[in-house]
Amino acid sequence: MKTVFEKIRDREIPKEFLYEDDEVMAFYDIAPLAPVHVLIVPKKVIASIAEMDDADAHTVGKMFLIARNIARDLKISEKGYKLLIRVGRDGGQEVPHLHLHLMGGARLSENIHPV
Ligand code: AMP
Repeated sequence: MKTVFEKIRDREIPKEFLYEDDEVMAFYDIAPLAPVHVLIVPKKVIASIAEMDDADAHTVGKMFLIARNIARDLKISEKGYKLLIRVGRDGGQEVPHLHLHLMGGARLSENIHPV
């Protein structure tokens, strides 16, 4: 079964992309946790950082550069922002398809305490 991000990649769920190339896509999170909340997602399904291969390092590195560029474009770079990757159950990962959260536009709380 496809993840929601594969459906977005395959245009089964319509989505406006802030960035797209052969390897990576970026779009706004549907349930934003910050005034700016963007997801940067590899088109290849890498289930999580725990399951990435050495060969995925280029793509994952590129995700961070794209996040930096989007932060600049959306004018949140100067004040700063948060980049977050959740890994597995205890990390709170809900979609088993690697994604980098870019969050900013306000001072963000830590909120990392055990539930
Ligand atoms: P995580 O909890 O780190 O796995 O994050 C999954 C994220 O995907 C959440 O922030 C969701 O709001 C977001 N999300 C789920 N479905 C969609 C969608 N259709 N479009 C954009 N973001 C989505």
